[in-house]
Amino acid sequence: MSNDLVIKDLRAQIGDKEILKGVNLTVQGGAIHAIMGPNGSGKSTLASVIAGHPGYEVTGGEIWYRGQNILELEPDERSKLGLFLAFQYPVSVPGVTVANFLRAAINAHRAEEGKDPKETAIPVAEFRKQLREGMKLLEMDESFARRYLNEGFSGGEKKRLEILQMTMLKPSMAVMDETDSGLDIDALRIVAEGVNRLAGPNMGVLVITHYQRLLNYIKPQFVSVMMDGRIVREGGPELALELEEKGYDWLREELAGTA
Ligand code: ADP
Ligand code: MG
Repeated sequence: MSNDLVIKDLRAQIGDKEILKGVNLTVQGGAIHAIMGPNGSGKSTLASVIAGHPGYEVTGGEIWYRGQNILELEPDERSKLGLFLAFQYPVSVPGVTVANFLRAAINAHRAEEGKDPKETAIPVAEFRKQLREGMKLLEMDESFARRYLNEGFSGGEKKRLEILQMTMLKPSMAVMDETDSGLDIDALRIVAEGVNRLAGPNMGVLVITHYQRLLNYIKPQFVSVMMDGRIVREGGPELALELEEKGYDWLREELAGTA
């Protein structure tokens, strides 16, 4: 069973506007892969479609992960397959603490059909131990676990929670859409340190970045460029540097010239 995420000729629209116009992309299991591209090229749409966001209509193509076309799976089933889709979780859930939320997420993964959830649930002591260790690693104060989910969380705190979640759920592939809004230096550092610590043979990362500077902190092995709903160029880290230096216009011109 392959841990690669393989996207084939993916097409998706919002309303009757086609946004993804045939995306082809392979994200190798265990690698750090970045998607870059100008504003409005469809990067967040791709992230949302991978996560199974209901606002997008998939009109063609496939997304394969671990032997399944995940487009046929519900978001929670995608998560159980080992995909971590950060933004899939509710932005604000009143009355639920960070600890309760994390425990529910872990137990959802451990649940098995036909078994009593009480039987498969993580023992409370073990959960507390993992939570304590995770928070220590991320230099988080223990009081954070008792706070209500996202209630008044700063950008940095939201990112910390995301990385804590990743640390505890141990996905085999994480898809992160890092929009530039709210990514201050603190949040940037947390995301980067978390990704660099967790990524490795057991966890691949697809980082969708609106913010070139993120790639000063996270070193991707592979870089793909999205423009107007398609992947138009692929390369290694040098491609990110080239784009940072020269912008996107030269690539646009080059593509127009060869069309
Ligand atoms: P990126 O993340 O690369 O900046 P997006 O995926 O957010 O690009 O957007 C791609 C295109 O889809 C843009 O033209 C944008 O205006 C359009 N779009 C995104 N979300 C919506 C929406 N909810 N309704 C209508 N159009 C949208
Ligand atoms: Mg976006």
